[in-house]
Amino acid sequence: MAALPSPEIGFIGERPTARENTGWNAGQGRAKINCIGGVLNPWPFILPATAAAGIATWGAVGPSAELFGPTVRHTASAKTLALTFDDGPNPAVTPRLLDLFDRYSARATFFLIGKFARACPDLVREISARGHLLGNHTDTHANLIFQSRAGIREELARCQEAVAAARSDPPRWMRPPYGYRSPLLDGEIRRADMQGIVMWSRICWDWKPQPPERLIARLARAARPGRPHGDIVVLHDGDHRALGGDRHHVVAALGHWLPRWRDAGLEFVTIDSPAVSDSARAPRI
Ligand SMILES: [Zn+2]
Repeated sequence: MAALPSPEIGFIGERPTARENTGWNAGQGRAKINCIGGVLNPWPFILPATAAAGIATWGAVGPSAELFGPTVRHTASAKTLALTFDDGPNPAVTPRLLDLFDRYSARATFFLIGKFARACPDLVREISARGHLLGNHTDTHANLIFQSRAGIREELARCQEAVAAARSDPPRWMRPPYGYRSPLLDGEIRRADMQGIVMWSRICWDWKPQPPERLIARLARAARPGRPHGDIVVLHDGDHRALGGDRHHVVAALGHWLPRWRDAGLEFVTIDSPAVSDSARAPRI
């Protein structure tokens, strides 16, 4: 996928507002110039600093960026499609998705928020029992860019514990809230004995209420034939701000596309499938 700028570059859910300044800051790049005995042209200093800040920002938020470690962001074949859902579980929406997936023999990956998993352990169990994969989306939907190493560790661990308390196996895959990564995250993923970080190749701006037709039109860009790899699509079954978020447009749009994708011969895969995880270091376009 192309680097910035791209219409696919975006934020999952609402933009973060909290600015817990705990060390690394993608916005740091402004140089204070001190010069003894004269006026110094600041631009030779400011421009590299600005470029460095730009690269760091791209590394933190670009779905295809691997500056801060490898990520999974597409499937290995255009015949496979990985549907992923963030910000659940959501008792208002997730059960409807599970029924829809059963109808079309589709499997998906759900990146759960730990505090919601603790509130709905039965639903967590149900997602897993019906053949879907559970992933870690932190405990509180924290913006990890501004978290300390200890903060990242706690966010990952508490979500792992919440999912494990509802079922037996803690998640192996993680998606950072808003897609934001920091230089510390990759090491903490490995320390937590998790497999890796999952980004996406297709984002559909589905986190706000909207007519289903709008999302149906955006999803038409997913799973197009003739490309060297398949899409990882990010959607939302929950709202990170509260349980019960309205995502009926997501259910309706998938009700439209699932039979069409199935009839087109697409295979629905979860992130732990070799068809996905082997693609992590595949040549990219
Ligand atoms: Zn999220």
